[in-house]
Amino acid sequence: MKTIPVYLEDSYAKEMDTRIAEVLPEGGNRWRIVLDQTVFYPMGGGQPTDQGVLTSEDWTGDVYQVMMRDGEIWHYVQAERVPAVGTAVHGILNWDRRYKHMRLHSAGHVVDFAIHLLGYSPKPLYPTKGEHGKKPYIVYTGTLGKDITKELEEKSNELVAKALEFSLAFVPLAQLEKDAIYLQPGLPTNKPLRKLTLAGIGAVADGGTQVKNTSEVGRITIPSVTEADGMITVTYAVA
Ligand SMILES: [Zn+2]
Repeated sequence: MKTIPVYLEDSYAKEMDTRIAEVLPEGGNRWRIVLDQTVFYPMGGGQPTDQGVLTSEDWTGDVYQVMMRDGEIWHYVQAERVPAVGTAVHGILNWDRRYKHMRLHSAGHVVDFAIHLLGYSPKPLYPTKGEHGKKPYIVYTGTLGKDITKELEEKSNELVAKALEFSLAFVPLAQLEKDAIYLQPGLPTNKPLRKLTLAGIGAVADGGTQVKNTSEVGRITIPSVTEADGMITVTYAVA
């Protein structure tokens, strides 16, 4: 059963009331639970998994990992037992963890928009992937032939200082093709896509959780921009 991904509509939803749709034993005191809807972000797109707790009237389970497979969102839970399918449960995110990851993820997009504003993307650099966990970085294909570390850090913090709004909307692919500064290859064509817009700057397709304003990201540092084998790796950090 497909899970309704509440986090796609509202990155700030911290709690939810939902129902258990499916339970599978994982061995020992570990279980895999599918819920009707969820605020838990499943690991993916470079953003780490959410964690938190699920409770029912007489039960508590620790959610230690969340994964998405074919539209089903699996909550990996540690507990002595789990309630039956159909039981109403309440879920609460570990918000400190999520908010840190949200800020890191949005910071990655600030850096990416800064690279675009400086005129380096989508040419000669084209973004290929990002990691927004413990050691955040973004990888681009292409070459620069010069060090952009300092100007990139300055431009990124200029966007933070301007306190620009991030907004999210579901749009058809044709709309995204018009609005986005670049499009990742392989985007689905049969459903609306989520567009992330940085006010006055541009838009990209994105499925992760985001802060509402660049001021929430705080000061960004760019420890390194390194070039190897036709790829540029930009590392970044937030306080
Ligand atoms: Zn993203």
